[in-house]
Amino acid sequence: MSTRIEEQTRAEIVEAGRRMYARGYVASNDGNISARLDETRILTTPKSVSKGFMTPDMMVVVDYEGKKLAGDRDPSSELPMHLEIYRNRPDVNAVVHAHPPLATGFAVAGIPLTKAVLAEVVTTLGSIPIAEYGTPSTAELPAAVRKYIKAHDGLLLANHGAVTCCRTVMTAYYKMETIEHFAKISLVARLLGREHLISREEVERLQGLRGMYGIAAPAPLCADPSELVATDQILCQVLEAPEAGGSERLVPDVATSARLVPDVASTLRQASRDGEIRLTYGELTALIADAVKNLR
Ligand SMILES: [Zn+2]
Repeated sequence: MSTRIEEQTRAEIVEAGRRMYARGYVASNDGNISARLDETRILTTPKSVSKGFMTPDMMVVVDYEGKKLAGDRDPSSELPMHLEIYRNRPDVNAVVHAHPPLATGFAVAGIPLTKAVLAEVVTTLGSIPIAEYGTPSTAELPAAVRKYIKAHDGLLLANHGAVTCCRTVMTAYYKMETIEHFAKISLVARLLGREHLISREEVERLQGLRGMYGIAAPAPLCADPSELVATDQILCQVLEAPEAGGSERLVPDVATSARLVPDVASTLRQASRDGEIRLTYGELTALIADAVKNLR
C-alpha cells in the first residue's frame, strides 16, 4: 500500500520525466530521477525506459545501499550517483540527471558555467562547475560528483551531461531547466563575441537577497580558489566575478575579449584592402592588451 506522499512523488517523477523528454534534455532511455520517500527508502526511475512515457507504477523502490525493495523493473544504472548525493546532502530530497544538449556541449568542451553573468543564476545556483570524467554507471561517476556536491546544487558532468538536486522533484527539475537556459544564453553571448560579468560587489548584493526570496544558499564563495586544487571535497563556490573597485556593477570580460584577437587580425587584413578600420572598444582593448603582452 503506497501512502499519499509516495503516490504524489511517483506522479512528480512522471511529470519531470515528461518535461525532460519534451524539452529534448534526454534521448532514447537516457536520464534518471529519484526522490527520498523516508529515512530508509528512495523512489527511482527504472532503467531502459523513455523518460517521456513513464507511468507511476514503473518506479522502483530501493534502500540507501541501492538494494531493490519493490517494483517490477530494475533501477537506473546511475543510481549510485544519486545515492552519493543523498549521503552528502541531507538537505536535498530529489536528484535529476539528464543530457541537455547545450549544457552538455559546455561539459564536452570543458568550459564550466562559472561566470557571474545572470543575476537569477547567481542568486539560485551560484556557479556550475564540471565534475571530472567518470565512466557512466561505474563507481568513478559518484566519486567525481562527491567532490563538488556539498557546495553545488547543479553540476556539469565532463563529456556526459548534468545533475541537479533540490528539496523536491520539481525544484530539482527546474534547476536543470535553469542550467540549460544559462548554457544557451552563454553560448549566444560568446558567439556575439563578449560577455560582461557581474562585479563581485553586485554578486554579494544578489546573494544577500537570497533570504528575502527564501532561497537556501548552497555554499559561500571561495576566498582563495587556488587552494582548491588539492581538495578532495570542495565546500565553497568559485564564481568569476571581478572586483569593480568603484560603483560599476558590470565589468567587461577580459578573457572573452582576448579570444577575439584572431578576429581582430582578420578585420585588419580586410581593412588594409578597403582603407578603413572599424573596431569595437572591446576589440581595440584586446588588440592593445595582446600587443603589450607580446612586447614583454
Ligand atoms: Zn547520463
